[in-house]
Order: sequence, then C-alpha cells, then structure tokens
Amino acid sequence: MAPRPHWLFGDQLGPHFLDPRHGGPDDKAPVVMIEARSVLRRRRFHRAKAHLVLSAMRHRAAELGDRVTYVRAETYAEGLEKVRGRRASSPLTVRHPTSRRALDFVGGLEGVEILPAKGFLVSHDDFAEWAGRNKGKGSGKGEKGGGQPQPLRLEGFYHWVRERHDLLMDGDHPAGGRWNLDHDNREPPPRGQDTLDVRGPWRPSEDDIDDEVRRDLDRWERDGDVSFVGRDGPRSFPATRREARTALRHFVAHRLAGFGRHEDAMLAADPVMSHSLLSVPLNLGLLDPAECVEPAEQAYRSGDAPLNSVEGFVRQIAGWREYVWHLYWHFGEDYRHRNALRHTTPLPDWFLDLDADAVTANCLSTVLAQVRDTGWTHHIPRLMVLGSRALQDGWDPAAVTDWFHRCFVDGYDWVMLPNVVGMSQYADGGMMTTKPYTSGGAYIKKMSDFCAPCAYRPDHRTGEEACPYTAGYWSFLHRHRTRLAANHRTARAVKGLDRLGDLRELLDTTAERGDAPP
Ligand code: FAD
Ligand code: SF4
Repeated sequence: MAPRPHWLFGDQLGPHFLDPRHGGPDDKAPVVMIEARSVLRRRRFHRAKAHLVLSAMRHRAAELGDRVTYVRAETYAEGLEKVRGRRASSPLTVRHPTSRRALDFVGGLEGVEILPAKGFLVSHDDFAEWAGRNKGKGSGKGEKGGGQPQPLRLEGFYHWVRERHDLLMDGDHPAGGRWNLDHDNREPPPRGQDTLDVRGPWRPSEDDIDDEVRRDLDRWERDGDVSFVGRDGPRSFPATRREARTALRHFVAHRLAGFGRHEDAMLAADPVMSHSLLSVPLNLGLLDPAECVEPAEQAYRSGDAPLNSVEGFVRQIAGWREYVWHLYWHFGEDYRHRNALRHTTPLPDWFLDLDADAVTANCLSTVLAQVRDTGWTHHIPRLMVLGSRALQDGWDPAAVTDWFHRCFVDGYDWVMLPNVVGMSQYADGGMMTTKPYTSGGAYIKKMSDFCAPCAYRPDHRTGEEACPYTAGYWSFLHRHRTRLAANHRTARAVKGLDRLGDLRELLDTTAERGDAPP
C-alpha cells in the first residue's frame, strides 16, 4: 500500500519532523506543504517575519525536491482541496500543530491522523503527569499558600526536566551543586563600554529564494493584498537546517561562555549582546532543543564555558521554553481572553506603527527601533521596556499579545500567550508569575546605558523631566493598590505609595500624557 501523504506546517521544517523513528510519517511518504495567503492577510505582520517564514518554507521545499507538493493557495482548506482533489477524505498524516486554531482545524478534517508533537523535550503526557503530581506545591520558596492550592511554577518543572533528561547532572545532584545560578547572571552592563567584548552572532547570506520572496512580498503589497510593519532588511536569521546548525555551532564556540553574566543587561549599540538568537530556528523547527543543550553541556564539561553561562542557557531552553509550550495547552482556550487587571486601553498608533522616531524616552525609542529594523530584541527589553510600558499604561492585553505575535520574528501563538498574557501583562492574575513585572526608571538605569542621554531623568516622578517609567510605575501601583497590597511580593512597594508627597501631581501628569508617545 502506498504510504499516506504527510502535511508539513511552516514551523515543522527540520528533518526530525519527518523521522519515522520519532513518531513521524513513513520515510517514503510524499510531503505536502501549503503556503496560505490568508495567514498574511489576517494580521499586519512585520515584513521581516513574513520574509523569513516564506523563505524557510520555500528552502525546505527545494530540499525535499520531488518528494514535496508545494501548494500556494488562499487558505489551508483550499490548499488541501488542491492536493486531495475529489477524494476529500483521502488519508493524510500531520504532526500535532503548535496552535489551538490549527489543531482544531486538522482535528476537524476527515481522514487526517495527527502524529505526536515534535520539537520539544517533554511530551504532553509526561507534562500532564508532572503537573498532576505538582499542583499545589508552588515553588516551595517564599510562597504563602494560606491553605490555597498554589499555581505551578517553573523551578520545580526545570529540576524535573534536568533529572529526567540527565542534563547538567552529576549523578543525583545538579552540576556544581546548585540548580539555579541566576544570581550570577544579573550583572549590569560593563561600565564605559558601548558593546560587550564578544564575537558577533553568525548571520546568513541571502540567495535566489530570498530574492523571489522579496519580489512576491513587494507585489502583494503593491496590489494592496497585504500590508506589513517594520523593515525587511537583509535576512538576518537562519532559514535552513544548514544555516541553523552553523548558527548554533558559532554560538556555542564563540558566544556561550559570555552568555550568563550580562543576560539581563541592555546596551543601546549592542542589542544582541551574548544572546543566542536561536529562538528563531528553534520555533521554525529547524533545530531540536536537545541538540542545543547537549553541546552547551559539553562546553561546560570540557572547561570551555563557565557553569553560570551554561546553566543560564539550559534553563532558558529546557526550562522556560518547555514550560511555556506546555502552559499554552495546560491553561486552556480561554487563557487568551484573561484580563485580571481589566485593562482596556487600545494600543496607540505610534506603537502599532513601530514609530520609534516619535518617542522621546530613549529606552523605548531604542528598543522600538530594534523591533522595527529586525523584528527581534532580547528578553529584558521585551519584558521591562515594551511590556512594562503596556502594563503601566493599561493597554488591552489581547491587543498587546497580538502586537508581539505580529512584530517578532520568533512569535507564535503558543509562545506569545504565556509570555505576554501571563509573564508580561499579568492578565492571568498570577497563574504564571507571582507578581507583575514592571519597574521604575531606576531598574532601567541600573541595567542599561539608556538613561544618560535621555531627555528624562529616571529619578524624577513629576515635572518636565519626569521619567515615564518611574511615574508609570507609581501610577500602576496606585491603580491596583488593593490587589497588589494583598500580594506579599508587592505589598511593600504599595506601602511606598503612602510616602509619596507628590502622588496627586504625578497622577495628573501621567493622565495628561494620554496616548501621546512618552
Ligand atoms: P536567548 O536569551 O539566547 O535564550 C535561549 C533560548 O531560550 C531562546 O532562543 C528561546 O528559545 C528560549 N527561551 C528563553 N526564554 C523563553 C521564554 N520565556 N519563552 C520561550 N522560549 C524561551 N520567545 C520566543 O521564542 N518567541 C516569542 O514570541 C517570545 N515573546 C516574548 C514576549 C515577551 C513579552 C517576553 C517577556 C518574552 C518573550 N519570549 C519569546 C522569550 C524570550 O524573550 C525569547 O525567547 C528570546 O529573547 C529570544 O532570543 P534568543 O534566542 O537570543 O534567546
Ligand atoms: Fe527610559 Fe526613563 Fe531612563 Fe529615559 S530616564 S531612558 S525614559 S528609564
């Protein structure tokens, strides 16, 4: 019997997705790929993201050669119709997709078998078992349960993944005797330096397929078919397996050693610092997480990278990335609509349009320009500059999530919901984190070089030079005083409000700004 064709989504592009030894289709199965234009029409994506995804899909199709039928269609349904013809229920296999919308779609199709998810270390069943055992345990550190069940927390999950996958373990103990080296990884940027003293990240060169993608995008834009934000400069992230492997090897050999120390720091002239940029090939499925953490551990074992850097990197991939993926499914469909803080303000146009030049606040203007030009910025600018602005100004969390999804080259539904709804906007009321993540200008001043040239002063709450992050922080605490006073992690900060003699003036100044760029 001829093997069933296998439908490959655009974020399942590595060879492991097709490997029969890993629950994939028969190795002779023909492959179907569908480029659906409606996906680009539905949202105003960053153009560099549209370019990257189309380039990666077309490169994969070129590699698969005669084995693949590559269909360009308006929708997935139309694409499938083209492939299946009149036999609308002819058998097909597909890997478990990464979004609920796609899963519901394939789940509703006749004749389609959904194969196990790939691209993560932990399976759905194993996570469910861990979550069932750990509900109610919290992190075990400093959480007052008051007899109430505690939400799941990353730390316990991460230890379990390390043990189960024998990652950075010395027998039954974590390598070096500690699970968590975060404390060593929160250094401010080195003073007096514009850039970190580290070799730059690997960047690809474009080819004919990129030229073709660019021509298509130009034409669709000209025809008014689709519209984008951001700039589509030279493609700067891997689009093929070979490029992804090169980027990984380069990172481990030249940049991993310095990953830890300044992981949370920001430098205006050095947006990437020692970060890996691997979220992009990982989320396209070009790399498997196991092949990223294994060479990192080897670098530690051979003395080529210190433990704080390697543990920090392993925590991001085997901890955070896995945790976020599983929480997406664990939290359920209505998670995307959560709005515990009842924030409803629409996103202002300058933010939607990535209009960095309209913004005076140096931190926000710099980071918004990074997003406009590359579709990427590292985790602290995402959390403490972009997300914090949205939280302090009370922007609608669903619209903020949509913005991140559209504007980031590594943004997908599964990774956005927990990171934005939970981590960044606290719209889930604490299911994901123990407190909202936001700060005044003092944190940004300590962790970056943004403040010195800024027109505002990080320690001014009111007046012409009032820092929008400092004023916004107090106004956020004031707005949610009752809720935050009841949380032991924020209660002390709320008490600080009572010591502010200029609170009324501060609130008036913040209100006056409205949705004008800060
Ligand atoms: P590195 O700092 O080198 O980290 C290594 C890897 O760890 C990353 O490549 C990524 O795969 C993984 N990782 C680390 N933290 C997370 C996390 N919280 N969730 C998932 N993976 C993680 N990550 C995305 O992949 N896509 C997103 O759309 C995305 N949106 C985010 C939005 C907000 C508001 C915040 C706070 C974080 C978001 N993250 C997202 C997580 C993190 O910021 C990015 O993974 C990271 O900045 C990507 O750059 P990098 O590859 O250089 O990461
Ligand atoms: Fe940002 Fe405030 Fe510092 Fe200016 S002073 S860079 S607005 S934190």
